[in-house]
Amino acid sequence: PAAADARKTATTLTVAVKCRPFTQRDYGRDIVRVSDSKEVLVLDPDLSKDYLDRIQNRTKEKKYCFDHAFGPKCSNRDVYSRCIASTIAGVVQGLNATVFAYGSTGSGKTYSMVGTKNDPGLMVLSLNTIFHLIKQDSGSNEFEVKCSYLEVYNEVIYDLLEKSSGHLELREDPVQGIVVAGLKSIKVHSAHKILELLNLGNSRRKTESTEANETSSRSHAVLEITVKRKQKNKYRNQVMQGKLALVDLAGSERASETNNGGQKLRDGANINRSLLALANCINALGKQQRKGLAYIPYRNSKLTRILKDGLSGNSQTVMVATISPADSQYHHTVNTLKYADRAK
Ligand code: ADP
Ligand code: MG
Repeated sequence: PAAADARKTATTLTVAVKCRPFTQRDYGRDIVRVSDSKEVLVLDPDLSKDYLDRIQNRTKEKKYCFDHAFGPKCSNRDVYSRCIASTIAGVVQGLNATVFAYGSTGSGKTYSMVGTKNDPGLMVLSLNTIFHLIKQDSGSNEFEVKCSYLEVYNEVIYDLLEKSSGHLELREDPVQGIVVAGLKSIKVHSAHKILELLNLGNSRRKTESTEANETSSRSHAVLEITVKRKQKNKYRNQVMQGKLALVDLAGSERASETNNGGQKLRDGANINRSLLALANCINALGKQQRKGLAYIPYRNSKLTRILKDGLSGNSQTVMVATISPADSQYHHTVNTLKYADRAK
């Protein structure tokens, strides 16, 4: 019974894989590759985990099975409605949640989180839904929505809502838990306003040219939305608070593949430390989901300490692993799928 109780309050982890369309970019810089480059990925909606276990060792092909798999024709809306929408409803009810995109540079993380005008990303769709739900519920409840947007770069935290942010420190608050001291938190009344802030923040992200990708983003960006709900006309007002963290992670490629020395290599090493720490947390969450309570090692990086609330207790975590279908990205794809697979 103790294990059952533990499971009831444990974090729910959902792992989705999204394969982006095969594009020009996949050909890489070397013209010779053009004729070589081909698609090496197959999505099969009919495969089940049991079937995979039985055939796994009979074939050379690598096969993985996830909660959800989205092919190149799927839109961000498809991903949203199938694996994020119910999570967002929970946030308005007072639950915590984390949604993050994991994958190598160029695999479609920013496309999935931010998106385009025609294919708005998970950040945009989540925000629209939050304000839509609030409007529906405004008869009996009062809401307050606040947002912050920060960047973890080289294990240093910066405020993306400040023009020229200094280094911010983490602090343990006896009531609020882990907080980023001095981080701007802005009250917002519409999705539109947050998206404006988001665009402003994105323009401040530290991007640097590396050999892996000209505009490779080497930072983790965390958009946090806090929704406070207070019942109207109640003698004793109960306030519920839900927190949603939407994370565009740095590229997952290994530092050694980013053919740079000095500062950039150190960035890579640190980024991997944060990613590794996150990987270990996600791993532990997966184990917890299967076997009951497990120790979640949050303390090992800035990123995991910041995300702690949305990765623990009664919260929901959704990982969207982004991949390319091209053979030139094969090793990145396998690494991402392995990472995602370990999470389950
Ligand atoms: P990352 O943030 O992981 O480095 P991006 O999101 O910038 O990668 O995507 C790399 C390129 O692929 C961009 O030009 C982007 O527009 C394109 N892309 C990614 N996903 C899709 C998709 N689902 N449909 C169309 N283009 C996509
Ligand atoms: Mg990006």
